[in-house]
Amino acid sequence: MTDKPICRTCNTDEFLVYSGFVPGRMVHLGGRATGKPHWVPSTVNYLCGACGRFDSGHVPDGWLPPSDPPRRPERPTLLV
Ligand SMILES: [Zn+2]
Repeated sequence: MTDKPICRTCNTDEFLVYSGFVPGRMVHLGGRATGKPHWVPSTVNYLCGACGRFDSGHVPDGWLPPSDPPRRPERPTLLV
């Protein structure tokens, strides 16, 4: 059973920054004669922006990193 990425220190995915997402894929192990397709689940690396913990692991099929990166609050640009 795979779970969504989560920071095990903060116990939340709220601050995670994702990188290196690899979608699940079928992989043939061994030669053509003996190899059976083997399902490799999606994997992703993630860094917790709150505590700095870096982790990686399998994620559920169909899971995708959020498309919107966390946004900093915008400050008005001061033109002098
Ligand atoms: Zn954390």
